[in-house]
Amino acid sequence: MYILIVEDEPKVADFLKRGLAEEGWQVDAAADGETALSMIQAGSYDVIALDIMLPGRDGLSVLRTLRNQGHNEPVLLLTARDAVPDRVMGLKSGADDYLVKPFAFEELLARLDALVRRRTGSYQDILKAGDLELDTIQHSVRRADQHINLTTLEFRLLEYLMRNKGRVLSRIDIEESIWGMNDEPDSNVVDVYINHLRKKIDKPFNKPLIHTIRGFGYKVEQSDEY
Ligand code: CA
Repeated sequence: MYILIVEDEPKVADFLKRGLAEEGWQVDAAADGETALSMIQAGSYDVIALDIMLPGRDGLSVLRTLRNQGHNEPVLLLTARDAVPDRVMGLKSGADDYLVKPFAFEELLARLDALVRRRTGSYQDILKAGDLELDTIQHSVRRADQHINLTTLEFRLLEYLMRNKGRVLSRIDIEESIWGMNDEPDSNVVDVYINHLRKKIDKPFNKPLIHTIRGFGYKVEQSDEY
């Protein structure tokens, strides 16, 4: 991911640059609005983190100019304190999200990820494995064009397995993701629900999609060997 950080405070800019680079991002930085504008006009950033209070041309002015020029890169505004008018102005000026300083790096990262995902559509609404389709918006499941009724827990379990398609998930991973921490380590709730799911999404069809990894856990995979 390619990001431009627009921040006039060298300490903050350095901290963000180092943190994001460690996360594998490609990072450019600008310390004032004019520089930011020319970099964005010349570059192809996946996302921009834009401080509002900048020397010279401020962040909101940069943002309005960009949007007027047809630049639609996702912009995360960094706003001082809890400046509500700033945030409202920012969103009206075409920002996609904002973060109030001081913020935790993890939150910045999560918001940037979300903006990029939204933009590239890589956070999928419809998950597929072979002829199985799970629609996370409609909360519906189909296999070979037949509608399948799942309970809420079965649905969440299947969604988790499908988001991790091809990956082997341990019983503990599954249990913690769907049921949260459990006091009873011997509980076989995961196996029970996997069996429910199998009856509905695998048994009536030719090829099973849920596979048991003996002694470890489960995975969803479309495989021709089965
Ligand atoms: Ca500033």
